[in-house]
Amino acid sequence: MKQQILVDPGKIEFQEVPVPELEEKSVLIKIMRLGICGSDIHVYYGTHPYTPYPVTQGHEVSGVIEKVGSKVAKFKPGDKVTIQPQVVCGECYSCSHGKYHICDNLKVMGFQTTGMASEFFVTDAKRVLKLPDDMSYEQGAMIEPMAVACGVFTKAGDLNGLNIIVLGAGPIGNLTAQTAKALGAKSVLITDVSDYRLELAKKVGIDHTINPSKQNLSEEIVKAFGPDKADVIIECVGIQQTIDDAIQNARKGTDIIIVGVFGENPTIDLAAVQNNELRLIGMLMYQTKEYLKAIELVHSGKIQLEPLMTKHFKFDDYAKAYQYISEMKDKFMKIFVDVN
Ligand SMILES: [Zn+2]
Ligand SMILES: [Zn+2]
Repeated sequence: MKQQILVDPGKIEFQEVPVPELEEKSVLIKIMRLGICGSDIHVYYGTHPYTPYPVTQGHEVSGVIEKVGSKVAKFKPGDKVTIQPQVVCGECYSCSHGKYHICDNLKVMGFQTTGMASEFFVTDAKRVLKLPDDMSYEQGAMIEPMAVACGVFTKAGDLNGLNIIVLGAGPIGNLTAQTAKALGAKSVLITDVSDYRLELAKKVGIDHTINPSKQNLSEEIVKAFGPDKADVIIECVGIQQTIDDAIQNARKGTDIIIVGVFGENPTIDLAAVQNNELRLIGMLMYQTKEYLKAIELVHSGKIQLEPLMTKHFKFDDYAKAYQYISEMKDKFMKIFVDVN
């Protein structure tokens, strides 16, 4: 079978390898679609701090069960599935206290261990989740980023009647904003410096879209929500400006959830955090319950994924997908690689 391998930053090759052995508790999956996300782009350009080379990429996936191991009862050939990309130790403090998603020895497929960019992939059945038959492969490959959004709201608690700010309208910000509404938020305000991404946010029904490079964010927040501003702020960019925006615009006692990956260490106004009793809450990854929630929300039709699906590339054209991404700057959302 054919397998993608990023031998060095910017250098994708394909190798011919045997289809991996099927063990009794594992399943063999024919990979259909892969989504490319911001972290993959960092790995491609050598700017991801935690990824050694060579590496096979791919962690946002959908596929079809081809074969099941002798002790696997919950899947059969032909089932549509997605895969949770976390490999955890099961023994550290986090793993033994219900927080395996922040395992001390966490390895994520496509980063610290082999990803799914190959024609077939074998993995333990416990990492595999069934998708409804009428879900498209593209929707299936977007369950992983949707699970990030669902993980955010596990931390935020009950959203009913709340006003939410999402900073950043890229794929994660957009899905987070849509998920907030699907989970009962009263009103959602999203920001970005890209008008293209704000237009898309408007298209999928986000209440308020603000471009802080052209509008006064503090004034717009009060206009949208009144003097009590927002109940929860979610940072989905990972730069100095957006963490400043979050802290400066928080009502006293507000939670700020940090989802963005900070390439450079920001300076945090801790005097404001202390004085205003703000809570900064980090968010790394999801658990199975959030994957299941993501599947449920997408299947219910409450989340619009189609407007976010920008373009497809053939498996052999993996490198062209990155070239397209660099040419499009901020004018793309989800790019797919069609493996089979
Ligand atoms: Zn991703
Ligand atoms: Zn662990």
